[in-house]
Amino acid sequence: MKTTGKVTGIVSNLVTVEVNGPVSQNELCFITVGDTKLMAEVIKVNGKFAAVQVFESTRGLKNGNEVEFEDKMLEATLGPGLLSSSYDGLQNDLTTMTGVFLKRGEYTDPLNHEKLWDFTPIAKPGDKVVAADWLGEVKEGWLPHKIMVPFAFNGEYTVKSVAEAGQYTIDQTVAVLTDAAGEDIEVNMYQKWPVKVAIKGYKEKPRPSRIMETGVRVIDTLNPIAEGGTGFIPGPFGCGKTVLQHAIAKQGDAEVIVMAACGERANEVVEIFTEFPELIDPHTGRHLMERTTIICNTSNMPVAAREASVYTAMTICEYYRAMGLKVLLLADSTSRWAQALREMSNRMEELPGADAFPVDLSAIISAFYARAGMVVLNNGETGSVTFIGTVSPAGGNLKEPVTESTKKAARCFYALEQNRADQKRYPAVNPIDSYSKYLEYPEIREHLAEKIKAGWVEMVEKTKNIIRKGKDANDQINILGDDGVPMTYHELFWKSELVDFVILQQDAFDAIDALCPIERQSYMLELVLGICDMEFEFENYEECRNFFKEVINLLRQMNYSEFQSEKFNNYKQQLTNLLSNGN
Ligand code: ADP
Ligand code: MG
Repeated sequence: MKTTGKVTGIVSNLVTVEVNGPVSQNELCFITVGDTKLMAEVIKVNGKFAAVQVFESTRGLKNGNEVEFEDKMLEATLGPGLLSSSYDGLQNDLTTMTGVFLKRGEYTDPLNHEKLWDFTPIAKPGDKVVAADWLGEVKEGWLPHKIMVPFAFNGEYTVKSVAEAGQYTIDQTVAVLTDAAGEDIEVNMYQKWPVKVAIKGYKEKPRPSRIMETGVRVIDTLNPIAEGGTGFIPGPFGCGKTVLQHAIAKQGDAEVIVMAACGERANEVVEIFTEFPELIDPHTGRHLMERTTIICNTSNMPVAAREASVYTAMTICEYYRAMGLKVLLLADSTSRWAQALREMSNRMEELPGADAFPVDLSAIISAFYARAGMVVLNNGETGSVTFIGTVSPAGGNLKEPVTESTKKAARCFYALEQNRADQKRYPAVNPIDSYSKYLEYPEIREHLAEKIKAGWVEMVEKTKNIIRKGKDANDQINILGDDGVPMTYHELFWKSELVDFVILQQDAFDAIDALCPIERQSYMLELVLGICDMEFEFENYEECRNFFKEVINLLRQMNYSEFQSEKFNNYKQQLTNLLSNGN
């Protein structure tokens, strides 16, 4: 028998319910309001009372209203058809909706039950299988989508039969498994999984050992992110967080992309729906959307749905990772999610932590980031979820709790800086404060030496040094004046400008410069470092400045030309001439 209850208190979308039976943390319930039922989640249980957060407006709700508990948590529906779909945090299908809004209390099915999928069997009768093992495969766009033993299955099963190759809907049985007790269980093409529980079903989760190319120089060259790694992009409003994430989505070396958009402003939600479907995948020439799922909060949804959306997005990522795919999760912005946590905790009148965020904010964020990672599946194949979130600290203050907590959880830090954005030095990633902890891993250093070239990490360290020295020199020039410092200061400053303009800055809107493969990054860095190694004897600082401006100009022209094309090589030749004259 289901546990039921009655509403006893309402504060916005936090509702207190007196219950007549057992309820558990994160359990789902439905509250009856007139002829609709509102979905809600238990966030606290205290004796006979449960505090639940309602995913929708609680307008018209009264005390005494009936509540029914579901004895299950908020779940994601997982099966073929997730890619190229857009959902809200509760996985309501936003593409099938007229306008972007559902009526209150209306929930749609995330998957198409009529569509036929081309199924090919993988398992054979007699095979022993456990949760997450592959039974068969359908083609979802051009990606192989594995049909797996449901994650909730416990212990070992024997495959009794697998459907033969052919077309099936997601509801049709594609395999029959026999459990240890001899009971037959039919398996179809989709399953459900609670979003707040990580999907297991893999053998091990080793430390990331290779990098994920993003095509963005400030990331790949300076502070690479590992495949299965975590990173975050804090930055004030308008500094380029969304542009940077979209650049990574377009060029990142991942097979599946999940975008969790907790819009900063209402029109960003509309933007993602208009822009994303237009994006062309530079790897395949097809629409990027074919291998993307968007989880997006509509602006009329209460804060609770923002929390659900990051978990739903992560669950979808873990699902594709279990198929042996490389998945990239981008969340923009996780601050909105943290604000939702804050609002709920304040309404519950919990003892607040820093800036009124819940005391366990750090633990919540860390636990979420920990779900990313590279895994080795039972069959020895690997899959990965790489996660990059943005944070929008109020007033750009990086000491606020969400940024600080995320800093503890994520291993790469790409700090966007107002000052650089104001100067249009995009992407406005601060080259001195940003870091990648993966560069400290011996296995990553080895991998970089092998993938790019021997001594690469040393080259990167040298580059960072040039930037630091240039900044110090510039500080001195600003204090003492152009004539008050030795010529070497000007040279140091202009060498760092060379690195800045040619390596750090990258035009996300230029067809060529936007995508910079690793070979090209390595070629350009070598060229730049070669110039930085040269010693010049300038007569005066104007001569120094003019010389470097010319060098920068030529190298930037190269960045805007097809790699090793005639045009590219022409600029290179001009550069060689200039350097030999200058010396
Ligand atoms: P945020 O998400 O931090 O509020 P956006 O990503 O919307 O900021 O960026 C704001 C603007 O900055 C963009 O509309 C664009 O004009 C500019 N911009 C940001 N990054 C780049 C880039 N890499 N190349 C060119 N322009 C950029
Ligand atoms: Mg943005």
